[in-house]
Amino acid sequence: MTEAIRAARILTMNPQCPEIRDGGILVREGRILAVGGWREVAGNGACRDLGPVTIVPGLINAHVHLELSHLAGRVPGGRSFEAWADGLFAAMRESRVTEAAMARAVAEARASGTCYMADVVGREFDMVRRVLESQGVGGFLFNEFSGRAREFCPRSLPRDWSPGVHALYSTDHTLARSIKEWCASRCLPFSLHLAEVPGENELFQSGGGEFADFLRTRRILPKGFAAPGLSAARFARELGLLDERTLAVHCVHLDENDVEIVAASGARVCLCPRSNRQIGVGDAPVAALCAAGVPLCLGTDSLASVPSLDLWQELRAVRALMPSTASLFDLLELVTRNPARALGIDADYGSLAVGKRAVWAVLPDDMQ
Ligand SMILES: [Zn+2]
Repeated sequence: MTEAIRAARILTMNPQCPEIRDGGILVREGRILAVGGWREVAGNGACRDLGPVTIVPGLINAHVHLELSHLAGRVPGGRSFEAWADGLFAAMRESRVTEAAMARAVAEARASGTCYMADVVGREFDMVRRVLESQGVGGFLFNEFSGRAREFCPRSLPRDWSPGVHALYSTDHTLARSIKEWCASRCLPFSLHLAEVPGENELFQSGGGEFADFLRTRRILPKGFAAPGLSAARFARELGLLDERTLAVHCVHLDENDVEIVAASGARVCLCPRSNRQIGVGDAPVAALCAAGVPLCLGTDSLASVPSLDLWQELRAVRALMPSTASLFDLLELVTRNPARALGIDADYGSLAVGKRAVWAVLPDDMQ
């Protein structure tokens, strides 16, 4: 069936035709056949009028952990990363995620306009895939590795998933490098938590500090760890982990030199501003990253550190950190075009254009 969708305003995120007033989208079998003024589109199929709303491409959450969906409101934040992590470990020992909790989280995200999630998965692969499919949400799954090199078994990965690295403070560096090389040789995206924690730079520079003590007493630091004498970002670059297929998540603790390193590498940065605030690790240098031309994406992180997987809430939080000159188009890029490119899904998602999936979100009034 062909359907003509009408909206008072369409923000296509296509730079050639970014805004259409009294617009229409012609849809058949979930794909866009045409986008334009309503008069051009009307009369080609059954009509559906969305009314006086602005629609934008379906939103892409570039970093989430659906396996932690059962922990909403159960991990105290606001003190330090270390206190939050201890709370998380305790909560994870007490219970495991249920499919119902995960489905509820995805359904809420879908209702707020999310059409695609890049999810970091440890073990519940089948559950994540089932929930995303049943909710009609697209997904890219990063199988997260940490610890020792012998754990990396790429042949065990199902097709269309990609391995990722938890963080350089928790993962053997040879393992991190081999995973990145494996991804690069297959042109797959690669995910890494980077410079989230205040003590990360001190750890890599000197091997000491409170964060180093925290990691050692909990046996998180890889065996044989030796501080490279570099910042976290510089160390990631030295290991060959940063390039245009890398999604560097958080990047809160970057100084000016680190921002330049990330920008020169071509890596994408995924910001999680609400999670950073909730845990108490600070704000990422968003204005400096924008000025350096780093492509930014946005993720919610998990329900263990944010109260919802609502990307509009995340956009409201990041808007306060963006340069005052940033436009609505600039802001929306973080949840549309940029993550679509970073995840290699821009043939299907990221803008409202002919041939792409017919998925959209309604722009909230306060974001206009
Ligand atoms: Zn995360």
